[in-house]
Amino acid sequence: MTVVTNSYFVFRDERVLARKERAALLPFSGRQWSFLKPLAESILPIGKVPGGQGFAVEMANGFEIGDEFEWLSLRGLVGMLDDEMFNIWGRAAQLLHWQKNHRFCGRCGEMTQLHEREQARKCPACSSAYYPRISPCIIVLVTRGEELLLARSPRFPEGMYSTLAGFVEVGEPLERTVQREIAEEVSIQVRNIRYFASQPWPFPDQLMLGFFAEYDAGEIQIDGEEISDADWYHHRSLPIIPSEGTIAGRMIRRYIEQLKVCRS
Ligand SMILES: [Zn+2]
Repeated sequence: MTVVTNSYFVFRDERVLARKERAALLPFSGRQWSFLKPLAESILPIGKVPGGQGFAVEMANGFEIGDEFEWLSLRGLVGMLDDEMFNIWGRAAQLLHWQKNHRFCGRCGEMTQLHEREQARKCPACSSAYYPRISPCIIVLVTRGEELLLARSPRFPEGMYSTLAGFVEVGEPLERTVQREIAEEVSIQVRNIRYFASQPWPFPDQLMLGFFAEYDAGEIQIDGEEISDADWYHHRSLPIIPSEGTIAGRMIRRYIEQLKVCRS
């Protein structure tokens, strides 16, 4: 017989509640959840999770944690959890963020309510429905043979270089976004754009869509705002790159593996 358990993913101000003694980050259930429940400000169903139903929980402001708990930043968990678990924590965080920001109807100003059947909020006065927002972003690794185009944003940690990225604009096909972002950020043209994979990125609601592109023409000229430095790096002398927990880190490693396969 399968035991079905409700799992509670507990947050406050976008930080995750964890038990100090557990090596792995787990949602709350059973007796530990009954202890937390009276102090929850809101409980939002997030659908099926391994073992049963999942709920995202925002704790009330005055909630004091005991010595056995700690608050962790979700961003710090990138690469620390397996993809499936990270995406569930991310889904919980993203849905809480969306709920906080869609409490009122944008059309008539009435307070919205949870939809009975769908993952949505609806307005009881004018029946408008509001679905969770997902913001698509492209992330692109531009290559020129054995060289990779890597760039720095002023927001990156010291010494870190990564792929280019940008938000998809309204009415824009993804291939066009790839070309436009590259042209805006480093002024070059690319060809042979190929899709790689995607990664939900709940900070707060992006969906990263990864592409490879080959250099075609132009000289690197950085925009100086979104990008503070960019250059071609040989795959054997790379700067600090993002971890494998990120799609950018995976694309860089995948490209280098393919180069090695082709040469051997
Ligand atoms: Zn309304």
